[in-house]
Amino acid sequence: MIKYQNFGVQKNWIANRYQESSSTKYLSVISPYFGKEICTVPDSNIDDLNLAVDQAKKIFPKWSKMNIRDRSEVMFQFKFILEKNIDELAQLIALDNGKTIADAKGSIMRGKEVVEFATSLPAILGGDSSHVADGITCTMTHEPLGIVAGITPFNFPAMVPLWMIPLAITSGNCFILKPSEQTPLAALKMAEYLKSAGLPDGVFQIVNGSREIVEGICDHPEIKAVAFVGSSKIAKIVYTRSTSLGKRALCLGGAKNHMIVVPDADLNSTAKGLLASSMGSAGQRCMAASVAVGVADIDPIIDQLIDEAKTFVLGKDMGTIISKVALDRIIGYIDEAEKMGAKILIDGRNVKPPNGYEDGYWLGTTILDNVDPDWPCAKEEIFGPVLSIIRTDTLDNAMKIENKNPYGNAAAVFTTSGEVAKSISDLSSAGMVGINIGVPVPREPYSFGGWNESKYGHGDITGESGVRFWTNLKKVTARWPESSEPWKKYF
Ligand code: NAD
Repeated sequence: MIKYQNFGVQKNWIANRYQESSSTKYLSVISPYFGKEICTVPDSNIDDLNLAVDQAKKIFPKWSKMNIRDRSEVMFQFKFILEKNIDELAQLIALDNGKTIADAKGSIMRGKEVVEFATSLPAILGGDSSHVADGITCTMTHEPLGIVAGITPFNFPAMVPLWMIPLAITSGNCFILKPSEQTPLAALKMAEYLKSAGLPDGVFQIVNGSREIVEGICDHPEIKAVAFVGSSKIAKIVYTRSTSLGKRALCLGGAKNHMIVVPDADLNSTAKGLLASSMGSAGQRCMAASVAVGVADIDPIIDQLIDEAKTFVLGKDMGTIISKVALDRIIGYIDEAEKMGAKILIDGRNVKPPNGYEDGYWLGTTILDNVDPDWPCAKEEIFGPVLSIIRTDTLDNAMKIENKNPYGNAAAVFTTSGEVAKSISDLSSAGMVGINIGVPVPREPYSFGGWNESKYGHGDITGESGVRFWTNLKKVTARWPESSEPWKKYF
């Protein structure tokens, strides 16, 4: 049960306490369950960002020199606090994002995996040392960059910040987060948890806001690296702007993920997989499957999919759409596909909202068949619970369709044939591939990151790749002189 609550005027989080913004502009945060304001957040300005940077500058020398075991101890404590408070955090995520409580908890658990990985950084950051020539040693260590920042989207208010925060700060950096102005509550709560975990003032800070803060982060001379997760359009802008000023940037963008389905696929698990991966989180995830490419006759699987979809309960199996604007945009794609000739197997428009949430932004599962690969619903990121089915005759054609899409986050194949699975996995143009898994998010320590227009920058955001992003390598080569005269007698 999601209860309506109004949290009033929110603040920034600077030096481990709530800090009023110096901006007079505030942004309204609407709960998509209720269509009603639940708080306002400051549309912060550059003075607010400068304050965060000044606080980070004060603590960086001490934090970066603190031994790695003490830094990772904060992550151990943070992990326990997250586990203890999962109900509270899930409730906040549900309220401002519209997820079901189960989805919200699942997303916290996935984010927590990165916290757990960060507790193992003493083993990774310890560095390497070897005797490379007579009397000469080489030592390599990971050194923090300094003050770094992250900009995050609305769809995973805790998990996506958790892709960044644990690795950035445990590696010795000071991190400034600009969360989505649509879903700011979870990040502020996690800031309180990090303080309780023993994180010193200024190591993790939040500056709420919108475009001005994002541009300020890209331009700030003291901010050394920027991680971004959001739409490809903004990812590209943030990447170009930050790197043109010599910053390190890793910007994850949007997606259009394809699932290739062949007739030999297992009926039940494939139908369930297609449904869960396209409708989970109401399709508002960058790993959501958006297109099913059916090769030859897959009608029995589609029939089973429809039966499964009819059992999907709004409010229990699927939450809301983030906003009225997003809802209208998604319905626009369905209307357009219908006009172009798509066969609507299941129509989520005009569904009855769950009791008590009549003013929320609801859309039911929608499945479109006989979709042409060139229609907008097949090519563009819809970011809603809409699955488009494209029919084709050969695996070759299926791969051409998958390869032609400009994104490259994920692709999946449903088959019982090892040969088909291997071939699709080899040929798909995506960073994360699923075999009989519709949402192939790698578990830690395997890193998360797509290809093509789903990512600007090098490397991935989690795993060891994430550690490399937030650190510089220092290589020390040393020759130790022969013992000098006064010491000779001791050898
Ligand atoms: P968005 O791009 O609108 O916003 C992301 C961030 O950018 C927010 O913090 C927002 O304040 C900021 N922003 C928005 N417009 C801006 C502008 N003009 N100038 C500067 N900053 C701006 O994305 P969203 O709607 O919050 O999230 C959904 C998108 O995120 C989808 O495209 C989804 O695929 C993508 N996403 C990608 C991944 C991934 O791992 N690749 C993960 C989650 C979400």
